[in-house]
Amino acid sequence: MNFAPPSKQRIASLTQAATTYHQQLTPDSPAAKYLESRGLTPDSARSFQLGYVADPVSGHERYAGMLALPYINTQGVVAIRYRCISDHPEGLGVGCKELGHTKYIREPGDDAKMYNITTLTRPVRRIAVCEGEIDTQTAAQAGMPAVGVAGAQNWHSLFNRLIRGYQEVVVLADGDAAGLKLADAVMAVNENARVCQMPDGLDVNNYYLRHGAAALVEKAGF
Ligand SMILES: [Zn+2]
Repeated sequence: MNFAPPSKQRIASLTQAATTYHQQLTPDSPAAKYLESRGLTPDSARSFQLGYVADPVSGHERYAGMLALPYINTQGVVAIRYRCISDHPEGLGVGCKELGHTKYIREPGDDAKMYNITTLTRPVRRIAVCEGEIDTQTAAQAGMPAVGVAGAQNWHSLFNRLIRGYQEVVVLADGDAAGLKLADAVMAVNENARVCQMPDGLDVNNYYLRHGAAALVEKAGF
């Protein structure tokens, strides 16, 4: 895996694309409706600079109609991941896989990055680690400083250094067997880390939608 930072030029073009897509996230756009269905507020959409690819910039044609999830550090946007928000359920012959694309797409050459990394500049003693951008946004919206990765396989050992200084690291895990993979990877090398697993079949966002912010924060022990 290559952890060389993107060039200034690349950061500038990604930042410009993310700004464009954020502007295209109008209240009546499919992406705004999708975020609403996940309980994410316009304030969260603003703070995470979420976007909708209504009119793709040149070279981004394949991301048309998708939700844009920028990865932002102190220099700007260092990557954008895209999520299919089309309403085509799996198993009926019209799912993402069945139509020949994956639900999430990242750009060729984009390596695993930490999501919401700028939250690490906040002077807090405790941090949440989530699987996926939407769970990270959900935890942050509920008031917890949170970072995330796009799946357990994207947790790189370098990330352990970034969260070493916290008195408490709480991995918010999905309520399934795979959900513990990320938690185990973090806990194996961080004695201040613990896991908070969602009930069977729920992820952080489902739990938030079902029980609300206060219940999620209480469950996480924040
Ligand atoms: Zn799809």
